[in-house]
Amino acid sequence: MQACDRYQAPTTIEDLVRAAAEKKATLLAGGTDLLPRWSKGMVAGPERVIDLKRIEQLKGVSRVNGEVVIGACMTLSDIADDSVICETAPVLAEAAGRVACPQVRNRATIGGNLCNASPAADTAIPLILLDAVLELAASGPGGLTTRELPITEFFRGPGATALRPGEILTRVRFRPLPAGACAAWDKFGTRPSMEIAVASVGLALELENETVTWARVGYGSVAPTPLRGRAAEAALMNNILSTEVIARCQIAARKEISPISDVRAGEAYRREIVGVMLRRMLEHAASA
Ligand SMILES: Cc1cc2nc3c(=O)[nH]c(=O)nc-3n(C[C@H](O)[C@H](O)[C@H](O)COP(=O)(O)OP(=O)(O)OC[C@H]3O[C@@H](n4cnc5c(N)ncnc54)[C@H](O)[C@@H]3O)c2cc1C
Repeated sequence: MQACDRYQAPTTIEDLVRAAAEKKATLLAGGTDLLPRWSKGMVAGPERVIDLKRIEQLKGVSRVNGEVVIGACMTLSDIADDSVICETAPVLAEAAGRVACPQVRNRATIGGNLCNASPAADTAIPLILLDAVLELAASGPGGLTTRELPITEFFRGPGATALRPGEILTRVRFRPLPAGACAAWDKFGTRPSMEIAVASVGLALELENETVTWARVGYGSVAPTPLRGRAAEAALMNNILSTEVIARCQIAARKEISPISDVRAGEAYRREIVGVMLRRMLEHAASA
């Protein structure tokens, strides 16, 4: 085996996208999704691997022009503890801090969590609430080319994303929720850690005189992709959070999700759980 040919570790995004285009290699971030798959023989090990972890440009959290910018190689532990994220998007810090266990979070990256495109990806739901934008880079004729996509357009199915061959997720951006908005995220599983969500729900609201003036709802593990709950949002908009409105929102949520039955839970159970989590969040918001 020629290790240096199969395993590349570029140090800049420019080198990375060039290597990705030329070598047609698999990108390795924390490896917490990839390595178990290779070692269990679920997929054949790749011909070539490009390690992203030495690229400093893919790390860090900053504030730029009112937005929070997160490098794709930030680990979930770092995100859970980051002061800017804890201040501007505690809902994202909480979700990152509840993935798996400390050992996994110390390696797992936000970029890997999104690009792996699991319907259960825990960081995806808070990022849907935040209307996050993903920055993608590739090698073009004149050098580096970039484009950006709203997170809701990134997921295409279980394990499938809008990434083109050779394209890399470089940064995740969002504007902090307005002062006065509230947000919550929760996941349900049968144990408190090392548990892929049976279902997860996120809710963000702005209220004016008790009336909902802005709403975001997101679901995990109950559709082929992390999903924005547009019907549930519509049921809330311009309404006071009365018992009837909350019930209508639950019905809309249960209708717009499309859960499957698997080893973790049945389809009907997942629909029920989503409604219960959403009701609890809405009741909490109404009483706050
Ligand atoms: C025991 C265990 C428990 C887990 N529990 C949870 C859980 O509770 N919740 C949860 O959401 N996840 C969970 N996971 C899944 C996993 O830890 C996360 O999805 C993690 O964030 C993946 O990040 P990574 O850096 O390890 O990705 P990697 O394994 O390195 O990569 C994953 C995929 O993304 C691609 N990729 C990575 N970075 C980029 C990039 N910047 N641009 C383009 N493509 C990229 C890789 O090529 C690969 O296809 C668990 C995993 C394990 C092993």
